[in-house]
Amino acid sequence: MNGDGAPQGARGTALRRHALALRCPWCGGGRLFAGWFRMEPRCSGCGLRFEREAGYFLGSIYINYGAAIVLALVLHLLMQFVWQVPTVVQMVLLGGVIALFGLGFFRWARALWLAFDLRFDPPRPEEFGPPR
Ligand SMILES: [Zn+2]
Repeated sequence: MNGDGAPQGARGTALRRHALALRCPWCGGGRLFAGWFRMEPRCSGCGLRFEREAGYFLGSIYINYGAAIVLALVLHLLMQFVWQVPTVVQMVLLGGVIALFGLGFFRWARALWLAFDLRFDPPRPEEFGPPR
């Protein structure tokens, strides 16, 4: 059990579920994004400041990169051994797919990073402000 009475496993599941819906991982209430690339500064539900410190979302790049690598590996294996696509064509296709994937997955990478961080480093009272 943690401070809010939820069992640790349930808290982790809720954090991920809210993050995948691009909602505040902590309360599930407020939207994380005001546009495709622009985040809300605070949760409209609980007031949590999303950028917890300067450069906070740098870690989300690891999630985005890791997901892109897994996708590229799966596509490469399919193209190499199932579809038998020439190597040059694979390189061009994978370059394009990875670039587009990185842009498309941007929001979920940030949301998952925030959920992961909140799971292991719950917010302190000073991280909450008036909900917007
Ligand atoms: Zn919230």
